[in-house]
Amino acid sequence: MQLFNLKDKSEQVSFCEAVKRGIGREQGLFFMDKIEPIADIDGLLKLPLVERSCRVLRHLIGSELTELEDIVSSAFTFKAPLVKADDDIYALELFHGPTLAFKDFGARFMARVLGAVRGDSRLTILTATSGDTGAAVAAAFYGQPGINVVVLYPKGMISPLQEKLIATLGGNIHAVEVDGTFDECQDLVKRAFDDLPFRAQVGLNSANSINISRLLAQVCYYFEAAAQLTSRQREHLMFAVPCGNFGNITAGLIAKALGLKARFAIGCNVNDTVPRYLASGLWDPHPTISTLSNAMDISRPNNWPRVEALVKMQGWSLQDFAAGMLTDDATRKTMRTLYAKTGYVLEPHAAIAYQVLKDNLKPGETGIFLGTAHPAKFKATVDETLGITLPLPPALAQRAQLSESKTELQPDYAALKAFMIEQLV
Ligand SMILES: *Cc1c(COP(=O)(O)O)cnc(C)c1O
Repeated sequence: MQLFNLKDKSEQVSFCEAVKRGIGREQGLFFMDKIEPIADIDGLLKLPLVERSCRVLRHLIGSELTELEDIVSSAFTFKAPLVKADDDIYALELFHGPTLAFKDFGARFMARVLGAVRGDSRLTILTATSGDTGAAVAAAFYGQPGINVVVLYPKGMISPLQEKLIATLGGNIHAVEVDGTFDECQDLVKRAFDDLPFRAQVGLNSANSINISRLLAQVCYYFEAAAQLTSRQREHLMFAVPCGNFGNITAGLIAKALGLKARFAIGCNVNDTVPRYLASGLWDPHPTISTLSNAMDISRPNNWPRVEALVKMQGWSLQDFAAGMLTDDATRKTMRTLYAKTGYVLEPHAAIAYQVLKDNLKPGETGIFLGTAHPAKFKATVDETLGITLPLPPALAQRAQLSESKTELQPDYAALKAFMIEQLV
């Protein structure tokens, strides 16, 4: 597989190299410049998840990474069921993995690919999190030989459950609560990546959502969704995706380029740079606002250049996207309305995707919205909005009992560096 830096086409790398580097020169994203369609989509959809995913990924990646089949079968060990939520509308539930979020798919695949391509070099994953990503990355890399993970999070600002998921693993997972804000955590990570000698010393890598391996893993569940429909339902299909950094929808569009016939709808909260851009042609990010759907509180989505590149490459039009924005009030209203109608429980991210789907679905179409997190991860909001008491899934309930092991640091680069050298070198 050949990947190019979207900011500098002269930088061209293999898939394995792109996974190791994460991001290219001048912060450019790695992406392909053509996608060959898969010949027999109907045949593909008859296969079971792991076998089908191996085919899709082998088609994209080519002959590199001989370990691919083993990696896929050890990474995709949980289901992505399609659950009927309303008339002609299904939820693709992507939250049955270890940290109950769709990020488990990408993070588990990436962890194993990095494990396979690192050779003898030791790696350190350094990541700042405001919640979900840190938990998925920690779980995915737990126990991977030769790889240490340092997760920074703002003290007291992530949910107790999220903290449990990050700080109860131990072993090669180092939880660091920073006495500061999420931005200060991110600044520490940036400082570390700019510190070239230190970067080389500990083999720093970021594992964030710009890594191409995460996107490719996510392509697979769009096919898994279609495989659970009848061939008649598949003829007129629309996906709605709750968007933050636009990685998830990029993966869906790659599936479309591979031959999966579908329309796409973009769902955003009030951080709606893209819906406004599609309506006005003006790229005008506003300051980021906190919402109930906090994983989508992003006003400069870092995967958007990939969406534009794909649209151009495939000769599509940005006007083909449906898009919509929901305020927190509208999100709660949607959660209540669907619960009253069918009993399906939405958390805020899925609620936004569901509503945008509902608003744009045409008669005769089948709609699928992506359920990106288990409602129990947003238990306080869900319980309060719907007037119910959601039980914690057993895996989470168990983790919530474990005691944490974490290190507290001031938002000070020298302190972080000293900690990491002491722990890792
Ligand atoms: C990360 C996340 C999103 C946004 O996904 P992107 O790929 O960043 O667009 C949506 N919902 C949940 C629950 C998430 O954790």
